[in-house]
Amino acid sequence: MFNRTSGIHHITAFARHPQENVDFYAGVLGLRLIKKTVNFDAPHVYHLYFGDEAGSPGTILTFFPWSEARQGRVGGGQVGITTFVIPPGSIGFWEQRLASRSVVTNRSIRFGETYVQFTDSEGLRMELVEREEGPTSTWEVDGITADYAIKGFGGAVLFSTKHADTIDVLERVLGLVKVGEDAGYVRFQATAELGNLIDVPLEDMHHGSGGAGTVHHIAWRTRDDDEQLEWRESVARSGYAPTEVKDRQYFKAIYFRESGGILFEIATDPPGFARDEEPEELGHKLMLPEWYEPNRAEIEAILPPLKNNAK
Ligand code: ZN
Repeated sequence: MFNRTSGIHHITAFARHPQENVDFYAGVLGLRLIKKTVNFDAPHVYHLYFGDEAGSPGTILTFFPWSEARQGRVGGGQVGITTFVIPPGSIGFWEQRLASRSVVTNRSIRFGETYVQFTDSEGLRMELVEREEGPTSTWEVDGITADYAIKGFGGAVLFSTKHADTIDVLERVLGLVKVGEDAGYVRFQATAELGNLIDVPLEDMHHGSGGAGTVHHIAWRTRDDDEQLEWRESVARSGYAPTEVKDRQYFKAIYFRESGGILFEIATDPPGFARDEEPEELGHKLMLPEWYEPNRAEIEAILPPLKNNAK
């Protein structure tokens, strides 16, 4: 039996300033803050989820913003660049919007597509690319109408310390298909409309170091709990060491580190973010899993206040 992922489920990164994080991703980029919770392994740290209106798999960027986090360095063993898709004809709107907020952008071309690249205030690297694919966003905020709004992930650029090994795991374990090579990159495709194009530079990159401004892990989609267990077996058969299944409330997760140094997760599409809040209320309240509810008062006292000014 051989499963193939349909693409990226979510990407999770480190940050230092929760309020700046919300102001940038919800306010400037116009994503929806779909869940405000805590790091289940360290409940004194927020876990903030941004995505499309529903928090659909393939659109979800999440952060652990913690004021005491050290500064990271982008490099090998990480998702180097996170790619978002915008509608055709919207690239000028975004260059202008980012410039008006003092975000420096550069244009770059790969595989015949133009990318607008920039970083957030903590150094996390990302880019926007125009594509037809993917449903139009239904989340409208601060002048970002459906004609311009980010639809979700286009994919990611994986910075590997052993690119041949990373390529091998993408093809042989995750079931992605090689679709081309261009200017020192190889491109892989998965079946979903969003989060489906993965580029890998054809070089072994020096190790980065984890911390604010870097990606912690990339999660790949699986259909349900049963398929996830099959994944766990096939990952182990391929020589990797998957964790046990962890309940992340909004999906279930297994993790393994591939040989190129990047932490991979396989995450279930269900149950999704409406499991504990009404769809129109997503992201309004601090949500805790039931095992932390008895400690809500202490947790709320430690977390810094946070306001979503983008609503
Ligand atoms: Zn994750």
